[in-house]
Parts: sequence; structure tokens; C-alpha cells
Amino acid sequence: CGIVGYVGKTTGVDAVDVILDGLSRLEYRGYDSAGLAVPTPSITVHKTEGELSALENTVPRTDLEGALTGIGHTRWSTHGPPSDVNAHPHRDEAGRVAVVHNGIIENYQRLRDDLADSGIAFQSETDTEVIPQLIGHYLDRGAAPEEAFRLAIDQLEGSYAIAAVFDGSETVYATRQDSPLVVGLGETGTYLASDVPAFVEHTDRVCYLEDGDFVRLTADGAVVTDAEGHPVDRPTETVAWDP
Ligand code: GLU
Repeated sequence: CGIVGYVGKTTGVDAVDVILDGLSRLEYRGYDSAGLAVPTPSITVHKTEGELSALENTVPRTDLEGALTGIGHTRWSTHGPPSDVNAHPHRDEAGRVAVVHNGIIENYQRLRDDLADSGIAFQSETDTEVIPQLIGHYLDRGAAPEEAFRLAIDQLEGSYAIAAVFDGSETVYATRQDSPLVVGLGETGTYLASDVPAFVEHTDRVCYLEDGDFVRLTADGAVVTDAEGHPVDRPTETVAWDP
């Protein structure tokens, strides 16, 4: 339901703080569970059913202090009841990628059956879990992270805003189809969210993604491309905001 992503430039701003704060500003959208993933030095995921305060109490702040990159999610469940396991982020079996998703993957059952036939053990009852498992499938076949992400997305039918982080990498990959996603370009880092309030206290320079866009976020900014990897020019706008 709500997505937040962040890649920071400098220590002093913790990704976990940016994400938890961003998620709290998206609370108005409604949710039944919440979670976050930090990819460095290696992927860690924390997620819980219930209020954001439950997640805040679960996240080991001192362990994650100084982490510059992460993604977070508030879930409004459509496939699989609210639970710790069904909360996002979801990972592939080998734990190389973590994914958050808003929307519905219409063809998830067929994708899930195919992956299960090839020996993949699913953890959750969500439609979302096919996304990291598909990415893992392509990583197994030698694809680089961004290529694996694109190949997996290409298999999906439905509505989605998706963000992913890979083990050990300070990059956030994202895409959208019939579900909003906006990039924020800040002094201290680059932001991603399903809605501007998530990061507007940090920056008012925003770039709205359109259906079919892919974006690669690093500390220095964002590169938007189409499904074939060709650069797409999305204007940067300054949003008026009364905090
Ligand atoms: N369909 C996904 C699920 O049930 C995502 C729901 C959402 O948009 O939060 O987990």
C-alpha cells in the first residue's frame, strides 16, 4: 500500500529513520502490516503484522546504524491474510534480493506453480512473493541484478509499484504499472515513495514516474529508462508544500 525507498550520500542520516518516518507519513493510506529491508553490508529484513510502532519495536536500531540504503512498505493485504510472514519485504529463496510491492499480480498463481515445479519453496501466501523468486530464478541463470529485475517484471500482469534491493548493493531498483511512484532528489540522498508526503520534509524536487518506467536510484540521483533500457526524460518539478 505504501512504499518508501532511500539511498543516502552521507552518514548522519540513517536509512532506517528516513524509511520509518516516511512510512508514518503514508499511514493515511491504511495498512495492516509493515516492514523494511536494508541491503548492506548484507540484506536484513524486519517485518511485522500490525502498527508501525510494532515494526519500530522490532527493528534493531543499533545494528542498522549508519546504513545508507533501504526500502520499506506498509501492506494492505489482498492475497494472504495479515501476518508477519505475509508482510513485505519478500525475498528469493537464497536471500539475494528483497522486494516491496503495491497492487496485485494477476498471473501470480501460474508463475508460482512454475517456480514451485522447479523446486522453489515459497514462504508466504502473497501474490508478491513471485517477484523476488522470479528475480532469484534469473540470478541463478547468470543475469546481473538489474537484468534479473527487468526479466522478472516482464513476466508480470497486473498493477504494481515495485522496489527492490540486492544483497550488498547501495542501489534501489523500481518500476510501476497502474500504481503511483515518485522520486525525490535531495541534497543528502535520493528518495522513492508511493506519494510525496513520505519525503517532502527532505526535498521538494520530485520526478513523477509513468507506467512502464524503470528507475535506478543511487546516492547521486535517479536514472529513468523504459522497458528496453532506453533513457526516458521525466521532468523534475518543485512541489509546493505546507508542512
Ligand atoms: N497484493 C500484495 C499483498 O497482498 C500487496 C498489497 C498492497 O498493495 O499493500 O501482499
